[in-house]
Amino acid sequence: MRGLYIGIDVGGTNLKAGAVDAAGRLLAVERRPLAFRDPEAFAGDLADLAEAALSAAGAGPEDALGVGIGLPGAVSGGEVLYTTNIPMEHVPLADLFRRRLDLPVLLGNDADCAAAGEFLRGAGRGFRDFVVLTLGTGLGGGIILDGRLRGGETSSEAGHLVTHVGGLPCPCGRRGCWEQYASATALIRQTRAAMAEHPESLLCRLAAERGTVDGRTPFQAAEAGDETALAVCRQYVEELAEGTASLINLLRPEAVAFGGGVAGAPEQLLLEPLRRRVGELCFSRHGGRTTRILRAELGNDAGIIGAALLGRVTST
Ligand SMILES: [Zn+2]
Repeated sequence: MRGLYIGIDVGGTNLKAGAVDAAGRLLAVERRPLAFRDPEAFAGDLADLAEAALSAAGAGPEDALGVGIGLPGAVSGGEVLYTTNIPMEHVPLADLFRRRLDLPVLLGNDADCAAAGEFLRGAGRGFRDFVVLTLGTGLGGGIILDGRLRGGETSSEAGHLVTHVGGLPCPCGRRGCWEQYASATALIRQTRAAMAEHPESLLCRLAAERGTVDGRTPFQAAEAGDETALAVCRQYVEELAEGTASLINLLRPEAVAFGGGVAGAPEQLLLEPLRRRVGELCFSRHGGRTTRILRAELGNDAGIIGAALLGRVTST
């Protein structure tokens, strides 16, 4: 089975590797917990997992054309400059990997890989200018313009657009970053604040029944008609719309796709009002290209598929 690509997604707690065919179909996925000891052993773990994914697809290293590795951090060529969850700085990861498994290796930022996956096989198919925004612990993004990934060495940091001057402090060192208002983490904080103000609300009862608050909680209570939850969702859409409109005004993409757990919220509570509000805020209301606002399609597979096919959207 010649002509396969391997995509590896280095997550916060897990490593996942997938064997992908030339059409971008994910044939098999293998995963294991992330246990970092040193860069050499880490590269060895990645190579083992790549071989396991090939084997699960009924193939071997001789069938693979290349490997892409998506990491939470910044990369330059074959070097990891830093990662946010693993103590690696200036590590020649591509070389270390090749000592174990001699295949061409490309490194990428994980949000960029997810954007590449959606562009090639998911919500971005058929577009040339496309943005993916992932609503999770943070607010990550990847930008593809004229079919090429922007960034490369350093990822696009859409979450650190400032939408509130003098607003909440951000770990990046600035105040009022979009991520502090529109990530899943921010939504949970906003939900808890509303619960504290309205202890009698259905939102509070729902959270108590489930014993937790996550990015779905306010949407579930809003679907049941709870006013407190509806207000949380409306304000969240406002926060999301501000940054989205700025990005669209700047880049004028054909489409923006939203991924991450929050993006799974019911259309009528998230994407529909977001489309309406972004339409009011964007310059395209005066004419010209309007940007479609979509839901990402590939879920957690986007990062693997995008890493595997990274060579198709990078310039080198
Ligand atoms: Zn920031």
